[in-house]
Parts: sequence; C-alpha cells; structure tokens
Amino acid sequence: MFASVLSAAILGVEVCPVQVEADVSNGLPSFIMVGFPSAQVKEAQDRVRTALKNNGYQFPPKRITVNFAPADMKKEGAGFDVPVAAAVLAAFEIISSRDVNGVMMAGEIGLDGEIHGISGILPMVLCARSLGCRFCVVPYENLKEGRLIKDVPVAGVKNLKELIECIQNPEPYLKMEIQEDISARNTDKGMDFSDIEGQEGAKRAAEIAVSGFHNMLLIGPPGTGKTMLARRLPTIMPGLGFEEKLELTRIYSIAGLLSRENPLMNERPFRSPHHTSTPQAIAGGGRNPRPGEITLAHKGVLFLDEMPEFSRASLELLRQPLEDKVIQIARASGTYSFPADFMLCAAMNPCPCGYYPDLNRCTCTSGEISHYMGKISRPLLDRIDISTEVPPVSFAQLHCGKKGETSTIIRKRVEKVQKIQEERYKDEKISFNGQLRSSLIDKYCPLTDSASKLLARAFERIAFSARSYHRILKVARTIADMEEEEIISGHHIGEALSYRAFDKDFVIK
Ligand SMILES: [Zn+2]
Repeated sequence: MFASVLSAAILGVEVCPVQVEADVSNGLPSFIMVGFPSAQVKEAQDRVRTALKNNGYQFPPKRITVNFAPADMKKEGAGFDVPVAAAVLAAFEIISSRDVNGVMMAGEIGLDGEIHGISGILPMVLCARSLGCRFCVVPYENLKEGRLIKDVPVAGVKNLKELIECIQNPEPYLKMEIQEDISARNTDKGMDFSDIEGQEGAKRAAEIAVSGFHNMLLIGPPGTGKTMLARRLPTIMPGLGFEEKLELTRIYSIAGLLSRENPLMNERPFRSPHHTSTPQAIAGGGRNPRPGEITLAHKGVLFLDEMPEFSRASLELLRQPLEDKVIQIARASGTYSFPADFMLCAAMNPCPCGYYPDLNRCTCTSGEISHYMGKISRPLLDRIDISTEVPPVSFAQLHCGKKGETSTIIRKRVEKVQKIQEERYKDEKISFNGQLRSSLIDKYCPLTDSASKLLARAFERIAFSARSYHRILKVARTIADMEEEEIISGHHIGEALSYRAFDKDFVIK
C-alpha cells in the first residue's frame, strides 16, 4: 500500500511543504529512506519503528520505503518523525490514507512513543494556511504556538496513541481548550524611562533616535546608565501590529527561543550580544543556517556595549544589513536571506580607562585613546546618525526628587512623529528619516535661510565629510518633525550639530 502525509522543512526563515510518502511491498524486510534526508532525519526510522513496537504495533515483515518529496532540498531536524510514523501506519492500513489527506503534521517521537515539541511550528502552520490544509497536528507542547494562527484548526498530541486517535477523529483534539489567554501582554519586565534619573540630554537624543529610526552611539564613563538607557529604548518604540508580532514569532520559533507559556512575541526585542560573540553568532549561520543576533533584533534594538571591544569582523558585517535591512548567508545548499531591520545602539567609554576628558582621573595617553577610537571602522560610524555623551550624573541631579516622563508619554509622541514620516514617504521605498538616501535629502530637507547659513558656518569650521553633512540633515529633519514643522530652521540644525560627539571631542587629530 502507498500513503502520503504532508509536512514541512525549514530553510532559513522560509518553509517548504514536504510530502512524506510510504510504501509497503513484499520482499526482503527492510526500512529505507530516500529523498535527501539528513543523517538526523534518517534516524527517524529507528525511533519510529521502536516507538510503534513499544506501543503494540507489530508489522508483518515487509519492505518499507519512505520517500521525501521534493528530493532536491535537504531535510533537517527531528520534526519528520510524526509524518513518517503516520505515513507508515497509513501504508499498513492501520489508519486510513484518506484521513491523513490535507493534514499538515510535525513532531519528534521518543522511543516510548511520547511526542516532543520542536522548533518552527508557527511557520509550518502559516504554510498549512497558505496551502489550505484541513488541519494541523503538532506536539502538545507547541499547541499554544500553533494556535496563534486563527484560520487553521490545530490539534496537539502527546503520544503515538493520541496521534492515531486524532487522525481518526480529530474533533475533540481540535476543540481542546488551552487554559489562559495567549494574547495577554507579558508586562512583567516593568522597565520604564522614568527609572532613569538625570541624563536629560541623553534621553532627548534617544527620543530623537527612535522617532526617526536613527542609529545611535552613547559615549560616557562606566556607570552613567548607558546600558539602562539602551534597554529602555524598545519601551518608547510604537507597539507592534499583529502581523509584525507573527513575523517576529516566526523568527524566534525557528531559532527555538519561544517560551512555551507565552509563545507570541508581544514586545520589540532587545538583543545585547557580548563583545566576545563570534561573527557567526551575530550574523547567523551554521550548516543549516539559523538566525543570528541581528535577526533576533529585527523590529527592535541591537545593543553593542563596549563597541570597540568587538572584533573588527563582527563590526564590519553590520554594514550591509544596516543598509539593506536583510542579511544574506551563502551556503553550499543555497543562499538564505534573514530579515535584519533593527535599530543599532552602541555604547563605548571615551577612552580605555573610561574617564577622558576628566584629566584628573584619566590615565590614558593620547596614543592609547586614538588607538581605542580607531577600532571602530569609519564606514560603520558613517551609519550612526546620533552620537551623544552620557556624562556622570551629579549629586544634585540624583536628589532633585523629580521623576522623569514615563515610556508611555514618550511613546505617544514618537508614534505621532513616525506617522508624519510614513505619510511623507508613502511613495518612496522608505518609512523613516533615518533611511533617507543622499539622493532624497534635498527633496525632503528644505532649510530656512538661517538654517543654511548656520550649516555653512559649521561646515567651514569643522570640515565635515559629505556623509556627516547628510546625517546632520536627517537628524534635523526628525527634530523639525517633532515640532511638526515642514521647513528645517536654525535651531533644528543647531541641535542636530550637537549630536556629533564622536567627531567633535573624541577624535584626536
Ligand atoms: Zn582614560
């Protein structure tokens, strides 16, 4: 008998449907698998056979062939155990092959017949939706994740016995309730901008950066709250729409990082890789490519603390995704593209000891300082629009007793400014001032007379590069938008010029 069951393979962040076909025929008893399965997928035959035997399904000695179609892509992971088991059971006519028609299934089977959770369930269910499947069968552990998609019925099974029952009579499994509300917001983090005392300048810079989606660099001695500020950036970004949440959940599902209890990614991510992270951990990769830190920071913030300590290779690879918002990873099996639309926030000390320009405390020579600054490549700095100092907080600021604004208040303003930009750029391929290309700057950054004069004066004095000049205009555009002004005036330019801390004070010529 021949039977076919639908499952799916994960390639990067894409999902491809895979037909798992089983055929039982007379001949020497054997169990063979064809259709480009990886070594791990091949192990399914032992797991499935042992699990079926341990659950009382003894097969007559026959020749079993399992084929994965299409054969031209490699099948990875343990998720094929369930479809292989179902196809074999159907081929032996223990279950009807009509019942498995139009059902997407995936899961790992233990030797005792228990079905274990796997990563990548959400994208598979999305794939089932696009194929118009009748329903999906997933491991019970992944049921909450699968049920995030409303228009496909999803059943969760705990073991082989339930799998067979569910295929024969799916109704009770599809109706099975999950206790709590999965769309509840997980608000346990409780981080808020009002936690930050003092640092008004840096908070203002952060609001501008988020409003216009500008990358930012925080420069200051240790212990002034650079990390605290960075961690709170996602709290002032606009909330995610449902489709964006699904997109993020897909990525985290494939990376195997979803929580079983709260599978939906409700919050914008904040990723803070350590400076010893390998380029591969940051970019993503591996034989069967997995998302790296920059993809896990998609729609949120990638924070590089102590940026000069990162390896040059790790910093250099950020350049392309900062431009293109995706990262391409080439492998023998093909080129994978992972989304990487994140806001970069970097932090650094002003010198190796951390106290420059406080010459009473700084013990570094000017050579040491230039070497330290030189570790960050110019091309990467060129992609950072706002660099600002985070100075030590004075005693008076700490004890003024005044609470700062909450994240909710700031987020409302940010949302308004982002609406203005969306409206302005609706015919361009961008949505934020931070993405303005040099060819669009003249069109969208009109200046008053006094603003052009101020810019010309600053240009003569500091001798900016063309790129610096464009960055100043982009930041000034955001500041003007925050005041709902269409034409950029002098004080907008003046403030934008103040966010060049890296050029102004710290590069020793
Ligand atoms: Zn120093």
